[in-house]
Amino acid sequence: MTFRVLTLFPEQFHSLTQTSIIGKAVSKGLIKVETVQIRDFSTDRHRKVDDAPFGGGAGMVMSVQPLRDALHAKERPENSCVIYLSPKGQTLTHDKVVELANYDELVLVCGHYEGVDQRFIDLYVDEELSIGDFVLTGGELAAMVVIDSVSRMVGEVLKNDASSKEESFADGLLEYPHYTRPVEIDGLSVPDVLMSGHHAEIAKWRFEQSLQITKERRPELFKKYVEKSHDKKTMKILKNHL
Ligand code: SAM
Repeated sequence: MTFRVLTLFPEQFHSLTQTSIIGKAVSKGLIKVETVQIRDFSTDRHRKVDDAPFGGGAGMVMSVQPLRDALHAKERPENSCVIYLSPKGQTLTHDKVVELANYDELVLVCGHYEGVDQRFIDLYVDEELSIGDFVLTGGELAAMVVIDSVSRMVGEVLKNDASSKEESFADGLLEYPHYTRPVEIDGLSVPDVLMSGHHAEIAKWRFEQSLQITKERRPELFKKYVEKSHDKKTMKILKNHL
């Protein structure tokens, strides 16, 4: 999978692509992250990429020409999607991340200043995506969130594939709590069941914890989960939490 990022600040992506799990995925060739400096495509003699907004108002607007030419600089595969990171977009969710992982290429357009000329969005963008109801100074961090979350869904990026299947949101619930050594620290102990070696009991405890945490913290997710159809064993446990 290739992520092509149109940005004014390619250097911001160095730590993402050179460290930790994403760094390893890049060096093993499991994913590709290509950054494209939008300014390199400006036909303005001062390499300008923005201009004042028509109608007045604060800030500058990114112009169509450099963005369009940066986008068209390379041929795109058929199964590619152009995403403009924007607080006005649909909010990124687990389901969306899974959907995006099916593309061969994601082109991530990072805005700055007041954003980009609407005509670039109308003509060349397939989707607008937001990472939450707040405003960032630029789209780079949002693009990194997309790259990180989508890469985790790509083939062998996570060695232990079970971990992505059991994590929060994967089955519609938040994840159960984790504990590691030592057994006791600062007066708190690991729940006995986790040390019992009884796999069925551990799975039941974890499921119950997931239900409880989801019910308390994200009642709308819990409601959705309850409305789904479940097998008899799940229903029996679920009933105790309704
Ligand atoms: N004037 C815009 C508005 O009010 O909707 C905000 C522009 S913001 C300062 C600059 C850039 O940051 C945007 O063009 C977008 O690319 C990015 N950005 C800001 N908040 C974002 C969010 N919540 N999700 C994704 N991208 C965001």
